[in-house]
Amino acid sequence: MGLRHRHTYESLASSLKATEKHYLSTCTAGSLSVALIYPNLYSLGMSNLGYLTVHRLLSAAPGVAVERFFPALATESPLDPPFYSFETGRPLGDFSILMFSFSYEGDFDKIPGIFAALGIPVLSEERNRHHPLMIAGGAAVASNAPALSQIFDVLVPGEAETTLPPMIDALMRRDTQLEELANLPGVWVPATGKEVIAPRTMHDINSQPAYAHIVSNKNAFGGAHLIELMRGCPRNCSFCLAKVIYQPVRSLQPAKLAEWLDQHPECSDLGLVAPSLFDHPQIEEIFNMLAQRNVRIRNSSVKWEKLQPQLLEILRRSGVTGLTLAPETGSARLQAAINKPMNESRFIECVREIFATGFEQLKLYFVACLPGEEQQDLEATVNFINNVVKAAPSAGHLSAAFSIFVPKRHTLWQQQTISTQYEMKRTIKFLKEELNKLSKQLKTSFASPQEALRQHWLSHVGPELAIEYAREAKECRENRLFSRNQFSALEF
Ligand code: SF4
Repeated sequence: MGLRHRHTYESLASSLKATEKHYLSTCTAGSLSVALIYPNLYSLGMSNLGYLTVHRLLSAAPGVAVERFFPALATESPLDPPFYSFETGRPLGDFSILMFSFSYEGDFDKIPGIFAALGIPVLSEERNRHHPLMIAGGAAVASNAPALSQIFDVLVPGEAETTLPPMIDALMRRDTQLEELANLPGVWVPATGKEVIAPRTMHDINSQPAYAHIVSNKNAFGGAHLIELMRGCPRNCSFCLAKVIYQPVRSLQPAKLAEWLDQHPECSDLGLVAPSLFDHPQIEEIFNMLAQRNVRIRNSSVKWEKLQPQLLEILRRSGVTGLTLAPETGSARLQAAINKPMNESRFIECVREIFATGFEQLKLYFVACLPGEEQQDLEATVNFINNVVKAAPSAGHLSAAFSIFVPKRHTLWQQQTISTQYEMKRTIKFLKEELNKLSKQLKTSFASPQEALRQHWLSHVGPELAIEYAREAKECRENRLFSRNQFSALEF
């Protein structure tokens, strides 16, 4: 059983390794051994520039041996323990540091299964110096660090580029590492009782852009290279967490992108990463440059109000066949409330222009159950979608995806109340019934109320999360259900 498990893991890992192209060398031997854990699918981890940046910085640090770990290499294959590193198949329990990258609060739910399988107590106070040092960072830590404060020894809510290099120096000095880490800006060591010191400087993305130094055919961008074009967003949508945690707004200059492209001459497909790409001040110049270099653009999320015919032409020439727009709601009242006003007739005109330019797919994002949403707002959204459908040429081109509003910490709407499960179900039932009438022209998808409620709980829960996870970890151990309990909800 053990050998078969090991063989299955190795064959899956080696088939994925064969899809990768590495642009920097990685050292898997060194005095400081770090397992860098992305607690979700391999394809998502390899599309996450935060995770890849941490890997790149650790790989470049002398004396650090870093290896990746994904608890699910593919959607259909959540891993059973024992867990092995991706690079060399080293048992995860052998590493002296386990560094987790949490992009979404939902990934916190992987903690009990992973800790239980490794035999590591969830509560940090129950661990000793023989256990690995447990570190967590990423957007979800920036959103709700207190939730992890009784679980992890070190939390990094800020940017890796500024916090990680001094952290590595401190980690090398094992006897004093926690005291030293606690004194670093942007690093929180809860056991010391010290507050986090605000970072003095923010990373200049033009001095060192974030990009994928490992490109896998299996990444979520279809094997494209990835580069961060903008960090932060100049807009102010009431519900948006990305706007809050990636401040201040920084954009990559076209000349720097050109420099990076010169260094990566084989790049023919490029995913442009930014919370709001079309707010980049020189986006047209950048698209033109990519079209001239025959680089296919993989980002399809656009701002409808910035879509001029000329820009649409450039995007088509760059190989983009589908676009995504985010009207969020068809209700003018709610559009004003979320700070995202829309001129509906101009929007509809834009939809016509999109299809007239030859785009084949258009996806629309909406948020259901916004605060104060009433029946008339839902009807406005249905009417709006009907008008969009009329502007689209024929069947099969249009889709609408509905998420459910979740008030997140730190956002303008953090104090708003989330709808009850009953209200969510009622709203979705109404939307489904109305939009089913358009089923020949429109595909729809809806977020799960249960997941929205869980996400809400995870984004607001405090240090007491440790107690719940310690109980779950105990159940995992007793029932040996690490995978079923923890990874069955991977739906990507
Ligand atoms: S929702 Fe999009 S446009 Fe609005 S603030 Fe967030 S990133 Fe910017």
